Amino acid sequence: MRKNIVAGNWKMNLKRDEGLNLVNDVINLLPSDNKVEVVFAPSFIHLYKVNKMCLGLDKVNTASQNVGKEEKGAFTGEVSAEMIKSANVKYAIIGHSERREYFKETNEDLKQKIDVSLKNNLEVIFCCGESLNQREEGVHFNCIKSQISESLFHLLSDDFRKIVIAYEPIWAIGTGLTASSNQAEEIHKFIRKIIAQRYGEELSNSTSILYGGSCNPTNAKELFSKDNIDGGLIGGASLNAESFIEIIKSF
Ligand code: PEP
Repeated sequence: MRKNIVAGNWKMNLKRDEGLNLVNDVINLLPSDNKVEVVFAPSFIHLYKVNKMCLGLDKVNTASQNVGKEEKGAFTGEVSAEMIKSANVKYAIIGHSERREYFKETNEDLKQKIDVSLKNNLEVIFCCGESLNQREEGVHFNCIKSQISESLFHLLSDDFRKIVIAYEPIWAIGTGLTASSNQAEEIHKFIRKIIAQRYGEELSNSTSILYGGSCNPTNAKELFSKDNIDGGLIGGASLNAESFIEIIKSF
């Protein structure tokens, strides 16, 4: 069956001591009967150390926030999938709306990033989601379908099994506006349907689909109570140990 995951995307926040203290606090506050996979996604400069702190812990892993789309070579400033894997990191987050918007990453770029990640045995947390305009124009289903199909549907089933989807409506990220649990569930159901059409019911039902967008300790329980919401990709609320732990405990 599919896994419940709560992943904290720190974005470009937290100095080294702040990040390491946060990880330490979260680990210490984790309930002994924790059933959720917890994932920390710090910036690259902290990733190796954070991963070391998580080694040997049950259901605590790390993710990179990005990955270079090329294998290796003269790409100053980029970090390759092979390097990330060599630090024993489990996941790469690919396709975050901030990468799409500010760094102009296209569905085709993301496809390449996914391929190079899987080739290097990284699992992928793939983000998709519509803008406010797209929702208001009623094209949000089409937008999500093309994001997913153009970047992921070339994969064979065995590779698609290493994909976690994060639905993150852009209008809800960092804005304090959350999709209602019904709005999120509607899209998660739709995503599961298109995965089933491409890969069949079994694989669709075993794919974890996370919600992201101003998820916090107050709304997490309601969101996670929905049948097709398997956890969260958390930005702002993952920067504080108590709020991140409250979200983890919402399952
Ligand atoms: C995110 O950036 O993935 C995110 C969900 O941010 P926030 O929780 O701050 O809206």
